[in-house]
Amino acid sequence: MDTVRIAVVGAGVMGLSTALCISKLVPQCSITVISDKFSPDTTSDVAPGILIPHAYPETPIHKQKQWFRETFDHLFAIANSAEAGEAGVHLISGWQIFQNIPTEEAPFWADVVLGFRKMTEVELKKFPQHVFGQAFTTLKCEGSAYLPWLEKRVKESGGQLLTRRIEDLWELHPSFDIVVNCSGLGSRELVGDLKIFPVRGQLLKVQAPWVKHFIRDGSGLTYIYPGVSNVSLGGSRQKGDWNLVPDAEISRDILSRCCALEPSLHGACDIKEKVGLRPFRAGIRLQKEFLARNGRRLPVVHHYGHGSGGFCVHWGTALEAARLLSECVQALRTSTPNSKL
Ligand SMILES: Cc1cc2nc3c(=O)[nH]c(=O)nc-3n(C[C@H](O)[C@H](O)[C@H](O)COP(=O)(O)OP(=O)(O)OC[C@H]3O[C@@H](n4cnc5c(N)ncnc54)[C@H](O)[C@@H]3O)c2cc1C
Repeated sequence: MDTVRIAVVGAGVMGLSTALCISKLVPQCSITVISDKFSPDTTSDVAPGILIPHAYPETPIHKQKQWFRETFDHLFAIANSAEAGEAGVHLISGWQIFQNIPTEEAPFWADVVLGFRKMTEVELKKFPQHVFGQAFTTLKCEGSAYLPWLEKRVKESGGQLLTRRIEDLWELHPSFDIVVNCSGLGSRELVGDLKIFPVRGQLLKVQAPWVKHFIRDGSGLTYIYPGVSNVSLGGSRQKGDWNLVPDAEISRDILSRCCALEPSLHGACDIKEKVGLRPFRAGIRLQKEFLARNGRRLPVVHHYGHGSGGFCVHWGTALEAARLLSECVQALRTSTPNSKL
């Protein structure tokens, strides 16, 4: 049986991890990742990549938990391997703090992260403006290191990377048998999905090597995430804003909010401003679709719309996208037994 030709559109964390999952799960296929931008120019490169999930209102919690657990397990294995440094993946401990006591006793992901517990009175003394907090150890997966690492793995497994902008998925037919759409915010134009929109995020990457713990305000708006080569300070959320130019006023506000939580950051240096557009959607689109035109059919697997928390669930959703793709491959092979597939 001949090889099935698969095009994965998009080279952010979703495109690359999906390509890798397909190469592991689906035999006899060739994979080409096609994207107008690769690392370091994607939204995924901007993300500090902390594994503290955001809820997707249209997705059942058990599904979100399954994706998070699969992602946590996958990254935990990398963190415990010789690859950890190159992949930018490491364990990190810290605190999520609240100015009001949250209504839910513990978040749905509390038993996936390590050592989740209520902060003690002594720990809370560090944050006099906050009345409640949660301490735990999670993982951090820095986009700017993890993406090049994924690219390398995709190439090692025989995949190819191609720089090209796709205006219409039909451009990929008949060169490819199946398309996987991981174009993130690009799906708004590429497949006309008006449910996806940008939520602009600005952050600072600074040198402050003495800061070792993460600190996250319960709202998620202010955060301090130490990483392999810098500390990320955030953040901002501007719905519907497409502007990729850093705003000096927002940067000043971020620094002042972070210094209020961690005063030693007044001594941070080498401050770099970064902006990314979160691909927001009420629910992640993980779906098969069979496009039809002039009697031809093009199977497409959609995998996009991860908003603020793509790194938290990427491996779980990529595995699911690979399973959907596997179903398309089977359908193709059954419907065309004598074809070249
Ligand atoms: C400031 C900020 C902080 C964040 N922090 C975290 C965090 O700590 N933890 C976490 O889990 N998540 C975080 N996120 C969210 C996370 O970054 C996203 O959920 C994730 O990166 C989305 O990945 P993606 O691959 O879908 O999109 P992208 O990274 O945007 O990739 C889309 C790809 O598709 C390509 N593309 C688009 N249209 C076309 C086209 N027509 N033709 C060809 N190629 C196309 C693009 O070039 C790109 O390569 C953060 C986001 C931001 C902005």
